[in-house]
Amino acid sequence: MKPPPFAYHRPDTAEEAVQLLTEYGPDARVLAGGQSLLPLLNRRLVRPIALVDVARLAALRGTGRQDGALRVGALTTHAALERTADPHVRDGLPVLPETARLIGHLPVRVRGTVGGSLAHADPAAEWCLLAVLLDADLDVLGPEGQRTIPAAEFFTGAHRTALAPGDLLTGVRFPRPAATAAVAEYGPQRGSLPLVAAGAEIVLGPDGRIAATRIALGGVEDRPVRSGTAEQALLGGVPEPRLLDHAARLAAKDLDPRADHRAPAGYRRDLARTLTGRTLAASLARSTARLQEATAP
Ligand SMILES: Cc1cc2nc3c(=O)[nH]c(=O)nc-3n(C[C@H](O)[C@H](O)[C@H](O)COP(=O)(O)OP(=O)(O)OC[C@H]3O[C@@H](n4cnc5c(N)ncnc54)[C@H](O)[C@@H]3O)c2cc1C
Repeated sequence: MKPPPFAYHRPDTAEEAVQLLTEYGPDARVLAGGQSLLPLLNRRLVRPIALVDVARLAALRGTGRQDGALRVGALTTHAALERTADPHVRDGLPVLPETARLIGHLPVRVRGTVGGSLAHADPAAEWCLLAVLLDADLDVLGPEGQRTIPAAEFFTGAHRTALAPGDLLTGVRFPRPAATAAVAEYGPQRGSLPLVAAGAEIVLGPDGRIAATRIALGGVEDRPVRSGTAEQALLGGVPEPRLLDHAARLAAKDLDPRADHRAPAGYRRDLARTLTGRTLAASLARSTARLQEATAP
């Protein structure tokens, strides 16, 4: 099938893009990498009257530091992050390139963008999971100017976000390094969205106990969720396999999994438990290695 007719605009600045989006209102769509939008258009599942192609907005590409945070421009592609040489990413947030590598297959990663993925808000999308796991802030330019939306408030449901008509997502900021964070995921088909993805970060204190931790799960509910009970259970504990297993059980128990044509709810819960255990173990291994490096004579 072919897409329905639409007006096509290719602005040179973010301000111009917002002006166009505001003029058209809810009937306009931003076109970034097109990896999610074009299939929807071709199947006529969306019928925008105008597309605002943001490909020329070079200022929205790439990574950089901003007030101690790592900023990733909305138009940065998955492949660009996968291959980045930026030391702030490689050393401080290695989980970003590692996760980028898990997305789809190469042609999708070369075109698809971080901002497009966040705005599309698929419940299983890796960038949405990482934004929630790492307490990211999302920068938005709208008709009233710039504003920032914390990731915890950005995702409001499956394919639903706090973006309003006229809004352009300009970037995402990760407020602090998370060198030990890890992601694990499972999907029956290589090259497509996972069924369930889990992210975790364990930081060990000098005494070898768990000083800080985060756990988030994607693909289980209608948006990525943090596992507060499991995080609490880990805090201050000695990081033994039994404790990690206990936390993984708690994380899975707390969920309200959805069921769809891809998997029943119980299967998603089981996956959540297994993947949480796996990603906690991966993060612990990193944290242990860092502690050993720091205390080596
Ligand atoms: C075969 C295949 C496999 C895939 N596998 C995965 C996977 O494993 N994991 C995964 O996460 N994704 C996967 N995807 C989706 C892919 O990551 C897309 O790149 C991503 O979801 C959307 O990014 P995009 O730049 O292509 O956005 P587009 O398709 O251009 O846009 C998507 C939506 O976001 C809106 N939008 C885009 N940019 C902005 C912005 N800056 N501000 C406001 N709104 C905006 C658009 O209007 C549209 O509604 C897959 C896609 C395909 C085709």
